[in-house]
Amino acid sequence: MVDNNFIKGLMASIKCGICGQHYEVDSVDVLGHHEGLWFLRAVCSACHTQCLLAAVIKEGRVPEIVTDLTEAELDKFRNISAPTADEMLDMYNFLKDFDGDFSRLFSRK
Ligand SMILES: [Zn+2]
Repeated sequence: MVDNNFIKGLMASIKCGICGQHYEVDSVDVLGHHEGLWFLRAVCSACHTQCLLAAVIKEGRVPEIVTDLTEAELDKFRNISAPTADEMLDMYNFLKDFDGDFSRLFSRK
């Protein structure tokens, strides 16, 4: 069952890209999701760096989590079979221009 608590628990297993501290469940916000694609914001409890993350969660699959959408990360997702790769590209473009307006994102489709 995928819900906010599942996502937050998943996020608690991820480390801050800056200082290596594990994120705490309480410092992870679920911003929204579109089918199996979840958008999250995490704030590191140690260095207070905020980052946007995304998780691709599908039944019967190991969840994929993207913490930083670098070009190298993007290449990794290009190798994943469609439609996940398309979703990740959409997300990559979205996060680059993210202005905080999720309602617009989800009404666009
Ligand atoms: Zn940190």
